[in-house]
Amino acid sequence: MRVDHLIAGKAVAGSEYFETVNPATQEVLAEVASGGEAEVNAAVAAAKEAFPKWAGLPAPERAKLVRKLGDLIAQHVPEIAQTETNDCGQVIAQTGKQLIPRAADNFYYFAEMCTRVDGHTYPTPTHLNYTLFHPVGVCALISPWNVPFMTATWKVAPCLAFGNTAVLKMSELSPLTAARLGELALEAGIPPGVLNLVHGYGKEAGEPLVAHPDVRAISFTGSTATGNRIVKSAGLKKFSMELGGKSPFVIFEDADLDRALDAAVFMIFSNNGERCTAGSRILVQQSIYADFAAKFAERARRIAVGDPLDEKTIVGPMISQAHLAKVRSYIELGPKEGATLLCGGLDAPANLPERVQRGNYVMPTVFADVDNRMKIAQDEIFGPVACLIPFRDESHAIALANDIPYGLSSYVWTENIGRAHRVAAAVEAGMCFVNSQNVRDLRQPFGGTKASGTGREGGTWSYEVFCEPKNVAVSM
Ligand code: NAD
Repeated sequence: MRVDHLIAGKAVAGSEYFETVNPATQEVLAEVASGGEAEVNAAVAAAKEAFPKWAGLPAPERAKLVRKLGDLIAQHVPEIAQTETNDCGQVIAQTGKQLIPRAADNFYYFAEMCTRVDGHTYPTPTHLNYTLFHPVGVCALISPWNVPFMTATWKVAPCLAFGNTAVLKMSELSPLTAARLGELALEAGIPPGVLNLVHGYGKEAGEPLVAHPDVRAISFTGSTATGNRIVKSAGLKKFSMELGGKSPFVIFEDADLDRALDAAVFMIFSNNGERCTAGSRILVQQSIYADFAAKFAERARRIAVGDPLDEKTIVGPMISQAHLAKVRSYIELGPKEGATLLCGGLDAPANLPERVQRGNYVMPTVFADVDNRMKIAQDEIFGPVACLIPFRDESHAIALANDIPYGLSSYVWTENIGRAHRVAAAVEAGMCFVNSQNVRDLRQPFGGTKASGTGREGGTWSYEVFCEPKNVAVSM
């Protein structure tokens, strides 16, 4: 199979191609066009040309087309889920039942929302001030390889619904489902040039895109290192940066332990541990630490590792051999730093089905006796590796939770309502879930603080990057 760029509604061949590989089998899935400055310039020009007409459509008409794209995604869930699972190793139970259906919801939600954009009024005795929200123009949308389709649609839906046009660049490791999104957008009747896709590597395709003078806004999801590079090269543009995380999952001795265990296991091992909001630092009060550690490791040992196309599989392969090597390097480091390996480790999973025996697998791994200053606790491993860290009391828990460069998500488990609110207020993170795993509502502000990024997306928070507010002051 060959996958080309999509520019002005047409498939555009690349001057070079790269291979995208199934991480479960190492089979080459497709040859994908590798773009550079020329393709980026053509795509931005197409988006710029399409902008006035698209922005000028009455919102209900844009909404109809955006909703239709949601319908087409909903009709193709099994096909898109299978492609996504093959391309990035996310298990089919997640892609088929949650991630791809949620992508359709992104279009439904923002189709509705764009018809309800309102402003503010600030009347004074001498002037009436009111706010208009305009579309921004051409937006660069850049996506990572974990949950690629959901993340791409989370950007494309508000971007297009609010009247902008887009150049989307997916990760070179997981480009296939977005290529399908481009086709479905045209089938939905979204005019050529409104959504363009340039495939390729960060340096060759990503850099010229974010630096392009006709790009007015950047919505980026990816690593903190790349986010830092982009804000330096982008110049004066609106942007939202959704970056890495190492989120604390804090469990007090009065928590509902069974529910906390279920949620803790889910938040580090689902999505293969390749999740920005993973609860990868599990802080447990000393009085329940030994009991929790034993029960947590017991559950981790029972997690089904295997073929990501099997509905029963919980942990599939890591995205690439390079990423597998990175995750394994941290598993090797843990005991050297003084952590105790409770389960998992460097051995390959036993009894993998024949089809996936060459996959990039790692066992769900649990380290106990972790000190928050260890590298395994400070670095984003981005794999199924949990660090269990003991704490004494509330102030110690807060200090440990905040002793990290990142600030994306956080989780607090306690039956003490006052403590829940105090910790939620004190934790340095963009999001805090109390007695809950990560549950997404499209109205919430999604994003992080510190090294986890800047800007929020979701609901009216998406105005920040995809709308330009204007104040009009009328003399009375
Ligand atoms: P990455 O930063 O390596 O790449 C992300 C995207 O940026 C890719 O499309 C890549 O090609 C592109 N890119 C790379 N260099 C670029 C440059 N100089 N200019 C422009 N684009 C460039 O990240 P990744 O490894 O694909 O993804 C994993 C990371 O993403 C993790 O750190 C994870 O926490 C983070 N993430 C964050 C969120 C969030 O919402 N905060 C969600 C998912 C993933």
